[in-house]
Amino acid sequence: MSAILPPAMLGILGGGQLGRMFAVAAKTMGYRVTVLDPDEAAPAADFADRHLCAPFNDPAALEDLAKSCAAVTTEFENVNADAMRVLAKTTRVSPSGDCVAIAQDRIAEKAWIAKAGLPTAPYLAIQSVEDIQVELAPYLPGILKTARLGYDGKGQVRVGTAEEARAAYANLGGQACVLEKMLDLQLEVSAIVTRVSATQSAVFPVAENIHAGGILDESIVPARIKPALAAEAQGMAMRLAEALDYVGVLAVEFFVLADDSLVVNEIAPRPHNSGHYTLTACLTDQFQQQVRAMCGLLPGRTDLLSPVVMVNLLGDVWKDNGGQPNWDVLAEAPNAQLHLYGKKSARPGRKMGHFNVMAATADEALDQARALKDTL
Ligand code: ADP
Ligand code: MG
Repeated sequence: MSAILPPAMLGILGGGQLGRMFAVAAKTMGYRVTVLDPDEAAPAADFADRHLCAPFNDPAALEDLAKSCAAVTTEFENVNADAMRVLAKTTRVSPSGDCVAIAQDRIAEKAWIAKAGLPTAPYLAIQSVEDIQVELAPYLPGILKTARLGYDGKGQVRVGTAEEARAAYANLGGQACVLEKMLDLQLEVSAIVTRVSATQSAVFPVAENIHAGGILDESIVPARIKPALAAEAQGMAMRLAEALDYVGVLAVEFFVLADDSLVVNEIAPRPHNSGHYTLTACLTDQFQQQVRAMCGLLPGRTDLLSPVVMVNLLGDVWKDNGGQPNWDVLAEAPNAQLHLYGKKSARPGRKMGHFNVMAATADEALDQARALKDTL
């Protein structure tokens, strides 16, 4: 397929922080950008040429997007996959509606991971109440997760016994779920693939991810695991992209178990919070890769220029201070790079920004990052 070149118009479904960083990348490369998002204050609108302020399934807005954009992508998986399929009739869409449909449903997602020959945690797919009337011991203690619309630990209940699991399922209103065995995690890592075609793909260095309260808190790169294990995670992510015939940026989250084995946790059909380190520490960042993939350009270089640590800034930092955090500190740290998403109100748990710290080693970057965070 021919390459789409600047100053073509590119479209994105969703105008949150991921859409915003996509818009920055696309504009920097000389493209124009249209964002579809129902929120008037969508963070991406600051950098977009056009903001279609309408629901994601609005037929007129989708038609406008299809007509005016040379290619369309998405910043999140909870868009209507059918909207992506409709758009694909008249414009180039990546990732495909089929891939988005898989990533937005934990049951389909896990089935695909298994189909690609990769390990998942032991799980039970629960489509209806009959499915949970089986022996649950293999999945306990476990986590009941809604099949759809979960993120940042939302839609998840930890359960110890079969009674608790059945009660929790009923509590969630009988919607489709997976019951997943709770694994003993050594740590969590992620790998982000950019795939343009069967012969053109690239994978970023593996990030080690530390969560707090179900939300990503820090990413450490390179991950503090054996290089062979990191290479294995990268290989698995590539294999998954291949199995899905994926076009675009695909993030794969893994669990590292006590015996140094890898289990695929979940996938995201888009750039990922754990890839924000690439904005500072790689020649090509994950949003530039998103632009390149949707335009049919070769993926850019993905090697790590320096050890780096990313720290998420949640609204809690604002609240604790009763106002703006103390940015002086970051301004005075020349090896730290601050990114703010332009969100007006800072609610607890809301992703407001992040900063990346580069240093000679990952441990040094982590020490500095934590010291900086403490002074915000
Ligand atoms: P989300 O869509 O909210 O990111 P995840 O499935 O990634 O949902 O779960 C969020 C976090 O919960 C994971 O990053 C991990 O820390 C923990 N978790 C999820 N599933 C398991 C599991 N089977 N065993 C142990 N921890 C888990
Ligand atoms: Mg997750």
